[in-house]
Amino acid sequence: MASITLDNIVKKYGDGFPAVNGVSLDIADGEFVILVGPSGCGKSTLLRMIVGLEDITSGDLQIGGKRVNEKAPRDRNLAMVFQNYALYPHLTVAENIAFPLRLDKGKLNEEQIQEKIHLAADTLELREHLDRKPANLSGGQRQRVAMGRAIVREADAFLFDEPLSNLDAKLRGQMRTEIARMQRRLGTTTVYVTHDQTEAMTLGDRVAVLRKGELQQVASPRALYEQP
Ligand code: ADP
Ligand code: ADP
Repeated sequence: MASITLDNIVKKYGDGFPAVNGVSLDIADGEFVILVGPSGCGKSTLLRMIVGLEDITSGDLQIGGKRVNEKAPRDRNLAMVFQNYALYPHLTVAENIAFPLRLDKGKLNEEQIQEKIHLAADTLELREHLDRKPANLSGGQRQRVAMGRAIVREADAFLFDEPLSNLDAKLRGQMRTEIARMQRRLGTTTVYVTHDQTEAMTLGDRVAVLRKGELQQVASPRALYEQP
């Protein structure tokens, strides 16, 4: 686990108005920060810069107190969960979960990999589904597989980009409970983008409001949503 420090982070695509315009935020080790704001305000860009899928134009990004601006995504030890799950259709649930472990060739032996798959499956109630392919799963189950893949990495932090927005209301409620449980159990530093106020209220330690690339407000969910 690790803290995440954003210091005056700027992102310019081409020579237009900056998509992210001087964002500074200290996220404590183990903290769960919700990122909200209107469409196009820079939420995805910010997540993608943290995970390393997008270059930072200027500013300092630190993970666990170390500057990582120039580090490749694979060297940052973060796990991102996307809205569209990004599962491999030809692989079983077990192999989808194990995928990041098999990328790190030789780090774990087969027995250790199997152990991790089963631990993640227990946490996310996927035991019965390990041999199935993503096409045969419900939306909520697919989302859990995507989270399983994040868990087995033992990442320093999780980055979620609207992970529940494609689910119906009932599943969304179940998954919210699932994520809260996972957070209590793992205590991993998390940045979570959502439009859903209930998710922000129930999951977030703090809510950061982004507007036109700038942080407008950072507050506890209670202070933010109960103000007049
Ligand atoms: P959000 O996730 O809050 O909807 P984004 O981070 O996707 O916002 O986008 C922020 C701004 O950056 C928008 O104005 C968007 O059009 C622009 N943008 C995002 N990605 C690119 C890109 N690859 N090239 C050019 N502009 C982009
Ligand atoms: P390559 O560099 O082989 O073209 P990618 O650009 O897809 O592959 O990814 C490079 C590395 O970035 C991967 O090894 C992985 O560790 C990391 N990575 C890619 N996507 C994510 C993500 N969603 N979350 C965390 N790390 C990622």
